Order: sequence, then structure tokens, then C-alpha cells
Amino acid sequence: MSAVVDERVSDEIEALEAILMDDVVIKRVGDVPDIIETVVHPSTGDDTDQQFVCVTLEVKLTPEYPDTSPDVVLRNPRGLDDALLATIHSQIRNKLNDCLGQPVVFELIELIRENLTERNLPSGQCVICLFGFTAGDVFIKTQCYHHFHSHCLATHLISGLRNYQEEYEILPNWQQMNVSPYQQSCPVCRTIVTCDVESLRKAPPPQESITAAPFCVTDELKVTIADLQHKMSALLAQQRAKGGVVSTGYTGPPPLTITTPADNQNNVVATNGPPAAKPEPAAPRQNGNASNSNSSPGSPNGKSGYRGPYRGFNRRGKPGRRGRGNAR
Ligand SMILES: [Zn+2]
Ligand SMILES: [Zn+2]
Repeated sequence: MSAVVDERVSDEIEALEAILMDDVVIKRVGDVPDIIETVVHPSTGDDTDQQFVCVTLEVKLTPEYPDTSPDVVLRNPRGLDDALLATIHSQIRNKLNDCLGQPVVFELIELIRENLTERNLPSGQCVICLFGFTAGDVFIKTQCYHHFHSHCLATHLISGLRNYQEEYEILPNWQQMNVSPYQQSCPVCRTIVTCDVESLRKAPPPQESITAAPFCVTDELKVTIADLQHKMSALLAQQRAKGGVVSTGYTGPPPLTITTPADNQNNVVATNGPPAAKPEPAAPRQNGNASNSNSSPGSPNGKSGYRGPYRGFNRRGKPGRRGRGNAR
């Protein structure tokens, strides 16, 4: 038996596992607890439908914990903007200092939960319309904890379905049969979602989209655009020079080659010869299989066979069957 676990730590772990059960993950190195991980939600009783935000708390214990502070990381924040995360981080730092020498994980969970409960409304923007969430907005939380105005998500899903149908209709029949059916997906993380589009589309458009000043191209915006265009054209020139390699420092063969329409035409001319000749050796073999050639005499393969060097063979191949039979 190697390391002895501090009694304060083993007591804390035991309590965490007893209270949070499946909601806490303890990662151990050998027998020694190393990382404590749990997803923190706002307190809403047992009503998970009303939890609009969450964050994963990861506490990496130091060998001297709790006499030294653990490393605390907040991962996968959902519905939380950077300002709120910064606030929580600074509160966590204070809490760690205050609690030096005693187990702190429950305190951290409680601290985060209080913040989430207070701000149990998505902050940040709806990625579809880029407006924020304000009082009076109707919004939806997907299974993956991403938030959208219901109105925006309806629009997104309706146009997603329309795009799918348009692409489906231009496919040849044989490909249509193999296409997987349309599935709604989250515009942020592509998780498959199931939403009732009909009820979503009844929601009003986001408040800010009504009250916001109409868009116009200001002088400031023109400067930003010109600057961006300048940077992007330099980047494109750099990528072209490298043969389409995007990353810097890459020395292998170009994974992507930028071609011009002229290059493509040259390719077509250059490769036209050999592929045209290729089917011809194949054609007689097909025709040699009696049933094949007889059932589809008008097939394009058969026709191309007649034009090639095996012309004589093919011609004789079909009627010759009878001829050969007669001769015997
Ligand atoms: Zn929106
Ligand atoms: Zn998502």
C-alpha cells in the first residue's frame, strides 16, 4: 500500500459520493483521489426543465490538499457569459484562500450553484440572430444546453429541412434510397435534437430585433471591412504560394491543391484518351458472358465495345454463338 490518503480528504470524498452519487466522478491515481468532477446546475427543486445554465467543475487535488489549494477549472459552461465566469472564478479564488486547511469542494459547488441560480437565464447571444436574451423573449434550451430564441430556432430548423429536401430532390433515384432521413440538429454543436417546430414558430421574434436601430454601413464599419479584406487577401496569397497549405510550419506534401478552370480543362484533355480506351477491353469480356450481352444489346458499354480494337471479336461474338453451334 503506497500513499496514505489524508483523513480529511477521504472523509470529503466519501461524503461527496454519498450525496452526489452518480453526479460526481472521482478519478484516482492508484488509490489516491486525483480529480473530482461534477456538473453544477442551478437549484430549481427537481425541475430540470427550468435549469437553463450549467457548468462542469473540475477540482484537481494537490498532494498536500487541503493544506494547499487544489487547481480548479470550470469547463463546458452553458448559457454563461465570460463576465459571469470571471466573477465566479474570482469568488472561487477567495473561497480557496479562506478555506485553506479544510476540504473545500462542497463550498465550491455551493458557491457556483448560488451564482447559477441567480442567473438562471442564458446570457450571451443567440447564435442564430446574434441578439441577446432580454425580458419578454421566448427562448428554448436544447438537450445539449444551448439556447436560442424559439423563433430563431424555428426559422433555422425550417430552412434546414428545406435545404435537405432541395438537395434530396436533385439526387438520382438510386441515391435517394440510401439517403438517411432528415434530422434536426443543434446549430452550435450538431447534437441531434427533437423540437416541435410548429409550437416554436408561434413565439414572437427576439425583442432586440424589434427595438434595435436598423443596420447601416457606417464609416467605422467600412474601415473594419477594408482592414479585414486586406488581411484576408494576404492570407489567401500566402496559402496559394504554399499550394493550399493552411497551417504554418507544415513541410509535407500539400493536402489540398488549388487549381484553376484552365488546369481542369487540361486534365480533361490529357485523361480523355486512356479512359475511353479502357472500357473496350472490358466490353468483350461482358459480351462473352452470353446472357449479359443478349439481355442488354443496346447498352452504352456494348456500343463502345464495337468502336474499339475488339470490334471484330464483338461482332462475331454474338451471332457467332449460333454459327459455332451450327458448325459443330
Ligand atoms: Zn435569436
Ligand atoms: Zn448544442
